Amino acid sequence: MNELEQLLAPYQSDLDGAAIETLAVRAGQYRSQENEHSEAIFPTSSYVFRSAAEAAARFKGESPGNVYSRYTNPTVRTFEERLAAMEGAEACAATSSGMAAIYAVAIAHLKAGDHVICSRSVFGSTIVLFEKFLRKFGVDISYADPVNADDWRAKSNANTRLFFLESPSNPMLEVADIGALSVVSREVGAMLVVDNCFCTPVIQRPLALGADLVIHSATKYIDGQGRCLGGAVVGPMSLIDPIIGVLRSAGPTMSPFNAWVFTKGLETLGIRMKAHSENAAQMAAWLLAHPKVTKVNFCGLESHPQYDLIQRQQTLPGGVLSFEVEGGRDGAWKVIDSTRMISITANLGDTKSTITHPATTTHGRLSEEERLAAGISQGLIRLAVGLENVVDIQRDLAHGLDAL
Ligand SMILES: *Cc1c(COP(=O)(O)O)cnc(C)c1O
Repeated sequence: MNELEQLLAPYQSDLDGAAIETLAVRAGQYRSQENEHSEAIFPTSSYVFRSAAEAAARFKGESPGNVYSRYTNPTVRTFEERLAAMEGAEACAATSSGMAAIYAVAIAHLKAGDHVICSRSVFGSTIVLFEKFLRKFGVDISYADPVNADDWRAKSNANTRLFFLESPSNPMLEVADIGALSVVSREVGAMLVVDNCFCTPVIQRPLALGADLVIHSATKYIDGQGRCLGGAVVGPMSLIDPIIGVLRSAGPTMSPFNAWVFTKGLETLGIRMKAHSENAAQMAAWLLAHPKVTKVNFCGLESHPQYDLIQRQQTLPGGVLSFEVEGGRDGAWKVIDSTRMISITANLGDTKSTITHPATTTHGRLSEEERLAAGISQGLIRLAVGLENVVDIQRDLAHGLDAL
């Protein structure tokens, strides 16, 4: 072992076959010469070489080691290895945000003339990225129903290279059958990319279900406390390598400080996702029983149209739900404006509960017909349930609901 290899000696030779809870705490850690117990942060832009010859060898890629933090950084590597281990993947590329992860996948794997099929229920900025920028470079985009695999087959053509989806969807919590869609993507010769932001690897592991790449906005549950922006792409080295090439040249890489926050976030992700799911389940039951609530969308309800699929695909329902109140937009706004604790913000995946009116915020750009086709009525409210005591969340929502 040379000095560098010694420094990198992983202290994890006995993690083979370890459970996800163990990987969340232990995977990817390399101790420095200081033998620190908690993961170190390396806030450095560049690295020094012992000689001109060593610098030359590093630049040529003939000797392993760090050159510049746009290429590699030890703190970022720890986050990447830990998240890859938790997703059951060979490799991970960390990015400056969730959107940078989606951007890097597109730039690395698509070219002019290619065709993308995207679920019609994905994050708004993803659609803007595809429509406003990818189209400019000659990539064609179609939209398909996430719960109907045949729709994806029907919309495919000889140029289809990429399927993109989120499951469950925002804000209707529709669940895509990842296994069934992976069969179609293989038939078509397309890559299946799943944005796993709502579930995290604790709840759903898309690669094991047949996906080719997994996207994360680490900004959400992986941070879990609303502090840092970051993202990641996870999958086999053959598909991650071209993405690393894009990140190195274009530069949307993760900062070491953010990587450290996310690494520590992964350690508590399992217990947080359980707590978010339990609180959300209690909120869903309470909302269902409320006379002013006309509908509740939540993955933990037996009335969910894909309840059987959810049992097979997810280990927990997750922390996000949506519900419809009487009185359309006025009713929904009244409930939102009557809260005194819950945060009015479109963000999610925070210890603090957040509330939003999709029809006039995240889905405000759609026409009313498009919104209704997606099931997003004016009376719909999305609640990302945090870790406060549920009794307090209920009391806060009751202010507006009871007055409707
Ligand atoms: C927030 C979000 C993104 C974008 O992530 P950023 O870190 O904000 O860039 C992508 N997909 C989903 C599902 C999200 O919720």
